[in-house]
Amino acid sequence: MTVRSTESQNDDRYVVWLDIDNTLYSASAKISQAMGERIHAYFVGLGHTDEEASVLHHRYYTQYGLALRGLVRHHDIDALDFDRKCDGSLPLEEMLKPDPKLRNLLQDIDRSKARVWGLTNAYKTHAERVLRILGVDDQIEGLVFCDYANSDFFCKPEPEFFHDALKRANIIDTSKCLFIDDSKTNVEAARKLGWGRCVHFCEHGMQAVEGGKEKMIAQDGTIPDDVVVISKLEELRTVWPDIFKA
Ligand SMILES: [Mg+2]
Repeated sequence: MTVRSTESQNDDRYVVWLDIDNTLYSASAKISQAMGERIHAYFVGLGHTDEEASVLHHRYYTQYGLALRGLVRHHDIDALDFDRKCDGSLPLEEMLKPDPKLRNLLQDIDRSKARVWGLTNAYKTHAERVLRILGVDDQIEGLVFCDYANSDFFCKPEPEFFHDALKRANIIDTSKCLFIDDSKTNVEAARKLGWGRCVHFCEHGMQAVEGGKEKMIAQDGTIPDDVVVISKLEELRTVWPDIFKA
């Protein structure tokens, strides 16, 4: 993957920010379930009962947007050890396969109009692995990830994480940001910060695990008027028509 370290100062193209997990692949891959099991086992490994593990897992996910954020903050664990045991141990090669349709979609984005970056709460090793298996790693020009190597890392939906992303991509005008994420909380956070065109990827009716709890994906509660909800990535062609090749 190419991560450009120096971005042109006066690059006024849009930036498409893609969440990776459960956005670039479907919840039907059941990766959230496998991740949830591993995170649960990690809590149990710290000496918690099953019940305590479930409560803490859900609490930290809800409070911080990422269970690991709570684990680092309250249990002083090594985030890289967590990453190896959780995301790192997922048999992703058996759960995901190359996605030519996704590849076409990304190739059809007119790069004279938009750059395409990843924006993930995972660590870079997991993010890069997913992109490689899906066969789209060469389509992603930059990656903003949670830096687990730094014990004080930020994650979505914390504003600092989004600010850092802007800095890395050298963006001043937030209206230039096009963002898609399967987490409504993350989409709302980006909207609040003035990110231009936000999309909630919501695979209605599918099962997924969030914060250790299995649930049916649904558009619950209200969503800001200017956020578009889609259930297939192909819909981006009509939601963001101006950034696709004619
Ligand atoms: Mg996601």
